[in-house]
Amino acid sequence: MHQDIEQVLVSREQIKTRVKELGAAISRDYAGKDLLVVGILKGAIIFLADLVREITIPLTLDFMAVSSYGSSTTSSGAVRILKDLEVPVEDKHVLIVEDIVDTGLTLKYLLENLRARQPLSLRTCTILDKPERRMVDVEVDYRGFCIPDCFVVGYGLDYAQQYRHLPDICVLKPEVYRR
Ligand code: 5GP
Repeated sequence: MHQDIEQVLVSREQIKTRVKELGAAISRDYAGKDLLVVGILKGAIIFLADLVREITIPLTLDFMAVSSYGSSTTSSGAVRILKDLEVPVEDKHVLIVEDIVDTGLTLKYLLENLRARQPLSLRTCTILDKPERRMVDVEVDYRGFCIPDCFVVGYGLDYAQQYRHLPDICVLKPEVYRR
């Protein structure tokens, strides 16, 4: 195990099983529909790469990058688009793929922003959900795991841009934050 990791919260085996289930559900629900999967950079990339390979129906991929103003471990609610979609969405069923829904502010912003572009439908998928921390009401249509109120890294999630490559979803040792 990496020296900075205190505990594995969700193992790579658990992730693999759940991502397969999510892929199967999405394939079923969107059969015969024109699906556009929108990955939110950077945190969702590892999940997205695994998820789309478990989806058996045709789809297209695009990306958005957003940043929330605030400190590295909290979100202020003000969101800025750093990279926008390259394709229009009016003729598509859009599925937003996120790494984690925490306060819900980022996803709320993304939903409002994309809804204004009038896609055929708009749904959300996240590998992690921290319901205890929710500040605004957002609909999560496909959810990997609910986790307690703790800061996690790995499987795409970072702390100060580190640890995204770890295969498990992990809790860092407290001393890492004090460095
Ligand atoms: P929200 O707007 O829902 O509060 O936060 C969403 C974003 O905050 C996520 O996309 C992620 O970048 C970041 N975030 C929230 N909780 C965690 C966490 O436990 N670990 C990491 N690495 N990022 C988190």
